[in-house]
Amino acid sequence: MNERTPLLDQDAVSLGKWFEDIGEPNYRARQVLKWIDQLEPIQAMSDLSAPLRDLLSERYSDDYLDTSECIESVDEGTNRFLFKLQDDEAVECVQIGPAEDYTACISTQVGCGLRCSFCASGKFGLVRNLSPGEIVGQILSLRKVISKKQNVDGWPRHIVYMGMGEPFQNYRATMDSIRRLIDSEGINFGVRRITVSTVGLVPEIYRFANEDLQVGLAVSLHAPNSDLRRSIMPIEEVYPLSRLLTACEKYIEKTGRRLTFEYVLLKDINDGPKEAKKLIETFKKWKLVHFNLIRYNPIGMTKLRPPAPAQAKAFMNRLRDGGIHVTLRQSPGKKINAACGQLRGLEYEKHGVRPKLAEVSD
Ligand code: SF4
Repeated sequence: MNERTPLLDQDAVSLGKWFEDIGEPNYRARQVLKWIDQLEPIQAMSDLSAPLRDLLSERYSDDYLDTSECIESVDEGTNRFLFKLQDDEAVECVQIGPAEDYTACISTQVGCGLRCSFCASGKFGLVRNLSPGEIVGQILSLRKVISKKQNVDGWPRHIVYMGMGEPFQNYRATMDSIRRLIDSEGINFGVRRITVSTVGLVPEIYRFANEDLQVGLAVSLHAPNSDLRRSIMPIEEVYPLSRLLTACEKYIEKTGRRLTFEYVLLKDINDGPKEAKKLIETFKKWKLVHFNLIRYNPIGMTKLRPPAPAQAKAFMNRLRDGGIHVTLRQSPGKKINAACGQLRGLEYEKHGVRPKLAEVSD
């Protein structure tokens, strides 16, 4: 592994300070960041002198995510990419929608330790957190690959932090990556076009409410009561539904922003009239919430199944008739391995590699 600091993890402040320390003007940082955002190597940074490029190379590495052998699956308007990281781990990100108007779904960890019963990432456990640069690098890499293939600029329309991992378990890197993305002198991505999804880490929901960021929040609910939720999501043991819902109410109160509840429909588990009734009872008086229903995308590692489309629609109609704002979303990429973490899992199987598991805290 390269001992030098990855350029991808630098921002205008850290790079500016380094340039000042070597007697160069601070604005060089912005010059370099522009090249980084294009994933260009240091020696291609033509507005720096050759000696300055050499100095930069001594201190920083220009190893970006490896897109040269990226694995790509294509299905139903969804392209799933697996990019290699410098330590030979791999990170998944997904292009949802056509190249000129797509949503990028990105990861914040390699694997995930939270073991939701329906999720491929959870099956492999947590390997490590991603750095801010590795998170932003997914967007830059997606852009590079997509713009190369199609006659478009390659930037996504929306970014959702819903790939491998729990963003709030890697809180600082997640926030740093958002700040890099929305930097008005840099990538300048629209802050309102970013959504962070959490499984429901209560302290971080309060912390997030206090960030000065107009980023959307989605919370994975997946069950209307604590017992059922516990059977689907082990995190319920740590942060029970009552505490989670209080945190969500406080978040809405504090930010005035709409909150989205994600609800994966699992056949004969959480998709019946009883569950719909309980959701209506709980949420009919809530303002500024929206439910996203998603038919489960089977991962082949569990017996869980999606309900039939008609059943899913009936569930949605029950909620709607009960006064809940709700959308039934298509689960993209059924034929490919589009459940989160699944492509990476298959690569492990194919190459007989076992992931190295690690404890990670932020
Ligand atoms: S659904 Fe999200 S939080 Fe749950 S195991 Fe998968 S990646 Fe982790």
